[in-house]
This record gives sequence, structure tokens and C-alpha cells, in this order.
Amino acid sequence: MRGALANFNCAETLSQACSNPRKRNAEVDASIRTEIAQLLGQEGCPICTICDESLQRSWLWFFRESYASGSQVGKYIDYWGFCKHHTKLVAKIGPTWQKSVIYSAIIDAKLPILKDVVNVLKSSSPAFSPLEKLFIRRLRRMSGRIRPKGECLFCKSVDETARFYVERLVNALSYPEIERLFKRSSGLCMHHFFQILSNLDANNAPQLALVAELQMEKLSNLQQEFDEFFRKADYRYSSEPKGQEQTTWTRTVQRFIGNADL
Ligand SMILES: [Zn+2]
Ligand SMILES: [Zn+2]
Repeated sequence: MRGALANFNCAETLSQACSNPRKRNAEVDASIRTEIAQLLGQEGCPICTICDESLQRSWLWFFRESYASGSQVGKYIDYWGFCKHHTKLVAKIGPTWQKSVIYSAIIDAKLPILKDVVNVLKSSSPAFSPLEKLFIRRLRRMSGRIRPKGECLFCKSVDETARFYVERLVNALSYPEIERLFKRSSGLCMHHFFQILSNLDANNAPQLALVAELQMEKLSNLQQEFDEFFRKADYRYSSEPKGQEQTTWTRTVQRFIGNADL
């Protein structure tokens, strides 16, 4: 199944790979190459695509089961839920019962701490009194306990998937059939391009050169379209029929931020 190694299953497969490196590495390598080949055949940044698919699976899993498991509960309580982007998604399509359980658990855990903060604030000592430093220390300790800690668990999941596939893509590019597919693909969004550059070492420089070259080609094409857009904005050519240069900005934004709906 495509994407079966992503996310939760990805962690499982990685641990299996570690337990029997030689055998497992060969199998994973072949399956990942097949998966990367399929991703490269689709429109848009392949890393964004697999991250979206992976998020959908982790989303289903989370609301079906793990929203109530101890390790996940601790994470969303510590963080006060999720990041702004994923909170909007939870609000929009998350199931009502689970949403209620999650936010009720957060409030339940945080209210006593907030009460402590209020008590400390009410016990404030006058400025310059000997107790002022003690008061400030207590207040800082309290505010540290009430502020969000950790990270959004959906962001973390997406980030792990991206790092996994970015590394595999770089490795897979040393295979001629993947190189061919990559050259014909949409290339990467800038976000994942920067991420792939962070894999730079002497061994994979040729693969990164391929990626950078394609990126350069895609950006140059966009720049040519912009040139055309500005040319047609000139009164001398403004009667010419308008074309795809009118929507170049949307493709550029997509290139910068990934496969987002605009
Ligand atoms: Zn991307
Ligand atoms: Zn998030």
C-alpha cells in the first residue's frame, strides 16, 4: 500500500529495519523507490503530497484511538492543544465527542495551575520589599507551568514524515530511473527544497545538484511568465489576449509554500 511506511507505521518499519539492517534495508529501499517513483508521477511537490497523505492517516488514527492514550493526552495538554493551523482543521472536521474530550481535558489540567497563578499575583509584595525577588521567582515558575510546552503533535508527525522522505528521495536519486522521473516531475516546494539542502554532504552532492538544477528551471519558468505578465500590462501590448501569465503568482506561491489550496 502506498505510504504504508509513513507516520506511525513509519516508526514501526524503522525499528524493524534497525533490528535486521542488511535484509530490511534492501526491502525498504526497493519499496521506498517504488513509492517515490509514484510520488514523482503526481502533480506538485512529492514531499508535500506524502505529508498530506500521511497526515490524513494519522488524523484518522488519532481521532479513532490515540486521542485518549496517555502519551498523546500529555502532549496536547502540555501544548494547549495544537498549532493554529491544525486547530482550525480540528475545529472544522474533528469529531465533536473527541474535540470535547480533548479540550475539556486541557481545561481540567490547566485550571488548577491558573488558580495558582492568580493566588501568586494576589499575594504580590510591594516593589523594593525584601520579598519582591521571591515573589518574582514564584510568578516566573507559575507562568512557566501555564505556558504551552512541546509542539503540536500533528506538526511533529508531518515533520517526521518529511524528514524520512527527504532523506530517501536524496538516496533514491542515485538510481537512474528515479533521476529520469525526477527531471520530469514538478520539483519541490521551496520549503522542502531548503530541507533537502540540509542533507548536504560530499556523497550526495550530485543528487542535490539535480534537485537544485530542477528548482532553478522551475523558478526561471515562473520568472519568464512574470516578464510576460508585466509586458502585457504595458499600454502598448495591453490589447493582446491574456494567458496563463495572469495566474503566475498563484503557481509561484504554491512553489514557495507547497501543495496548499489557494
Ligand atoms: Zn513540499
Ligand atoms: Zn500543527
